[in-house]
Amino acid sequence: MLRPHLWVDVPVTAVVIATAIGVNLTATAPLAALALGLHTWGTVNPRSSWYLPVSWRVAQAGNSLALSFDDGPDPVTTPRILDVLAARGWRATFFCIGHNAAAQPALVRRILAEGHSLGLHSHSHGRSFNCWGLKRLGADLDANAATLADITGTPAPRLWRPPMGLKNPLVAETIRRRGLHTVTWSRRGFDTGSRRAPQVAQRLAAGIAPGAILVLHDGAEPCHPRDTSPSAEALEQLCPQIEAAGLRSEALSLGPAGLGFGPTAGDATPPPHSAQTGQERPTC
Ligand SMILES: [Zn+2]
Repeated sequence: MLRPHLWVDVPVTAVVIATAIGVNLTATAPLAALALGLHTWGTVNPRSSWYLPVSWRVAQAGNSLALSFDDGPDPVTTPRILDVLAARGWRATFFCIGHNAAAQPALVRRILAEGHSLGLHSHSHGRSFNCWGLKRLGADLDANAATLADITGTPAPRLWRPPMGLKNPLVAETIRRRGLHTVTWSRRGFDTGSRRAPQVAQRLAAGIAPGAILVLHDGAEPCHPRDTSPSAEALEQLCPQIEAAGLRSEALSLGPAGLGFGPTAGDATPPPHSAQTGQERPTC
């Protein structure tokens, strides 16, 4: 079967060869533009399964949606978010950065103990993640998985969210080899770029619907620390709007039918651990 990336690679290669042997560029440019457009759509669009299958919403949702949090845990913002969720009896999904998890193992255990789901995100969350080769991608995700498994004493999560939501053929192969399930989103708050909580909450509110997957950030990239309190504020403003729509947040889980809502391992108290994996700081 022709893999999707070949629909891009083959025309681009053809254009390069044609240009090299002196074929008029005006004849090949449309082909190059089409290939580039396909590649960009497959890489950037969170709903695109062009390079690898993604779940960007939950199909059988009832009255639930999924609040999800990336880049944590953070010693200040994550507990605040957990308190907001606990006050409503809601559950959510936390896609943790391995380095941040290693620095806050007690918070990772608290997330799980309170019934939320954990997901992989990246160990270092380098901004060039989408340009890495297979070896580096694999090592990064394996370190992320080992860190979370070591801290919680449970098997590593099978849910994974790509950093910045970006995919490509090498990322796809890395994920396929590890049997991970890619989760993106139906709506994001753009809270990494905005410090105005009402604006972030308003953006997410427009995406409130059964089965929606909404994204906020409870932490920051290890090499780019920032104040994440506006994300917690946005959550506090968003929750009443979710309630007003008759919905609640549930944790994501992976079942035989694919992505759904369900019980998590958090009902069992994880054993105490002294995680050593990934304690080193990333090279920034
Ligand atoms: Zn991230």
